[in-house]
Amino acid sequence: MSRFLNSKYAGMEPYVPGEQPRDMQYLKLNTNESPFPPSPKAVERAAAEAAKLMLYSDPELRDLMDTAEKAFGLSRRQMLFTNGSDEALDFAFRAFCGADCPAVFADVTYGFYKVFAQIHRIPYTVVPLREDFSLALEDYEGVPGTVFIANPNAPTGMALGRDELEAFVSRRSGLIVIDEAYVDFGGESCLPLIEKYDNLLVVQTFSKSRSLAGARLGMAFGCEALINDLNMIKYSSNPYNVNRMTMAAGIGALEDGEYFRANCKATADVREYFTTEMERLGFEVLPSKANFVFAKCPVLSGLGLYQTLKERGILIRHFETDRLRDWNRITIGTRAQMDTLLAAVKKIIDERSGA
Ligand code: PMP
Repeated sequence: MSRFLNSKYAGMEPYVPGEQPRDMQYLKLNTNESPFPPSPKAVERAAAEAAKLMLYSDPELRDLMDTAEKAFGLSRRQMLFTNGSDEALDFAFRAFCGADCPAVFADVTYGFYKVFAQIHRIPYTVVPLREDFSLALEDYEGVPGTVFIANPNAPTGMALGRDELEAFVSRRSGLIVIDEAYVDFGGESCLPLIEKYDNLLVVQTFSKSRSLAGARLGMAFGCEALINDLNMIKYSSNPYNVNRMTMAAGIGALEDGEYFRANCKATADVREYFTTEMERLGFEVLPSKANFVFAKCPVLSGLGLYQTLKERGILIRHFETDRLRDWNRITIGTRAQMDTLLAAVKKIIDERSGA
């Protein structure tokens, strides 16, 4: 820390992204990226756009909006594009939380919610998940503030149904932000509900199901008034928040619905296969609707399994907190990648049990 740092940031604990080591070629199953490359249409459009990089991007993202209106069946007045969905969440914290409106989120959920609350000095209320890691919406009754729910949740992968979320949104007057980063892998999206409720904001990303993590493209969907508020934040911080190549890649990705659906299905199928095989090896695996599973090893701690696999060239994620230290979050890759992991895990278990 320099002596110039604003004192309001003293003690700030930044978000820690999953590691991206370069010491060797790892099988990377730690950051929930897609194992599939972007659609060829996205690559082609982004490459063509590179020659126009001397020009600023369109702050209104009109070409992307044209495609998105068709793809999502919504009006551009209900949509905002951002530099990754992290930026959409950041804007939502800034626009819709404050001293008199705390942020409300689960104890076990996306770690960035706490970081956004801290950096913007927003008070927050943590509502613990139940013992089995389920999120019980009744636990939020009477808790004031803007509620952030990752659905499916991370790192558990567990999802709530649209009907129960609709009932929750309809009986709550405060704003509810549903973070659907992983919804395309088998969850139920709340997108159809934004026409009906003015207290619902849905956030999605192109990072996972559309294979564009490196492009940084996210979206927020809500009623016109909510989107206007988010645009006020955008135009007051970074009007060119989505760069030209990313916008072009986003158009290509939305145009290739077939590729997107095939990859989502392939990931969901591999997830079910992998879950069964891990259970066969004695793991406890939470029911996931995401492109990752949360699993508890029968013979090693979360840290132990992570370290042992890393030594053998495979990266998974572990979280060294009280509730999570026995567990690991494992990204679903291709069938061949998961077979490599399964073989390594089986070997570790055999070694441990002296087989
Ligand atoms: N929400 C959740 C629940 C996530 O896990 C992530 C990925 N780290 C994000 C949002 C942000 O993703 P991105 O900024 O790449 O869109």
